[in-house]
Amino acid sequence: MSKYSQLSAVDKKIEIQGFGIKILPELKLDLQKEGYYPVALTWIGDDITGPFSFIGYGENSPFELRKEDGGYHVYRDDEYFSEVSFYKRPNFWDRQWSIKDGAEGTFFVDEGMSGVITPCAPNSLIAENDEVRQVTGGKFPFVTLACYNGLSIWPSYGCLYTKQGNPCTFCCIPGDYVEDHMLIQQEGWLDGMSKAVEAAIDELGSDIENCSLTVDSGTLPGRDKGAWAYIQILEAVKARIGKLPNTIYIRAVIEPPYDEEVLFKLRDAGFTSIQCDIDVYDDAERLEVMPNAKGKRSIDDYVRILTRAKEIFPGEVATQLVAGIQKDENLLKGVERFASVGIPTLVTPFLPFGQGINLVRKGKASVPGPDKMRRVYEACGKILNKYNVAPPQFRGGVSSLAETMGRRLKRVPSLTNYSKVDSYETRKAV
Ligand code: SF4
Repeated sequence: MSKYSQLSAVDKKIEIQGFGIKILPELKLDLQKEGYYPVALTWIGDDITGPFSFIGYGENSPFELRKEDGGYHVYRDDEYFSEVSFYKRPNFWDRQWSIKDGAEGTFFVDEGMSGVITPCAPNSLIAENDEVRQVTGGKFPFVTLACYNGLSIWPSYGCLYTKQGNPCTFCCIPGDYVEDHMLIQQEGWLDGMSKAVEAAIDELGSDIENCSLTVDSGTLPGRDKGAWAYIQILEAVKARIGKLPNTIYIRAVIEPPYDEEVLFKLRDAGFTSIQCDIDVYDDAERLEVMPNAKGKRSIDDYVRILTRAKEIFPGEVATQLVAGIQKDENLLKGVERFASVGIPTLVTPFLPFGQGINLVRKGKASVPGPDKMRRVYEACGKILNKYNVAPPQFRGGVSSLAETMGRRLKRVPSLTNYSKVDSYETRKAV
């Protein structure tokens, strides 16, 4: 038996997420050939999701992926750590949008903070990170898959703040702004997107009920912070299919609109749930890493709009805070402030993708290690319990707060190649 066999699946995930996993390029190629989703979308057991970064920050990781006995396994310093399995590559992912200009400057890294295909890394960073960057040549999937059985639609990979030259310094989207990244403004994109959603629904069958649908985006201009784009997406889907898919929730991840009537419009369009990420709680720390309108927005404003949202949306209303780019005590103050009004916080470790790489290089942030994350999750769990707030149903990319509090998701057959077998250690022992 491995000395790690006593660790729970949640603990294994937390251990891995602070390091990433090394994976040899040949093995990665094998994975892709076998039809697995070429992303760090992983399961430990049946109900603990990744993602784990395989390469972005895994070069010096003690964890390594190996293929043995027809399965995939993680070793830690040469000692067996865990069996893992992957999502398979869905057919709907082949429906992609080719941008006209600037395509050569936009690459998809096949891993990411959000667990989806992430449009990261300008050329300069790709050059510095050699073979790491699995690219799709400037094509954007209309519907991507996130690690929590999540169908995810991005109407824009560009962000207003990148355009203004004052992006958040931890942003996973690269610093170069290309107008064509505003996908929704290009003729034909909405049509292609709605067809991709239709294809996803067909492919998933009844499993759609165990999936979620999320619309996410860089911040768009305007007082509604881009809600117009989110609404157009659901309208286009309804026009194509006649209704919205029967997912667990339909979530808008958006900066809080200034006017509360926008919340009603989002709900009326079909969004059941909303997530407005504050990311950093303390005012001074906010301005330091978010030198833009988002950083200047007061926490009181977030509390006001999210409290109102709780009265409007039937599903979950949540925020997010990122560990590793702010003092832990400030993060916990934020969790408490929102829990006190009944709102859960996704607590996510900072990971060095996109512009976050520069933050690490300047020594201004680091990836929080497993011990720190365990302490933070434990403290957050106590706060949520104190206010009787359920752990977030939403999953961020690499947040394990929900799982540490016992909330689980189940893998769905249509999204995985995995078939249930005895555990690797059991098989070896026989
Ligand atoms: S973190 Fe969000 S708001 Fe900040 S620059 Fe990136 S996409 Fe824009």
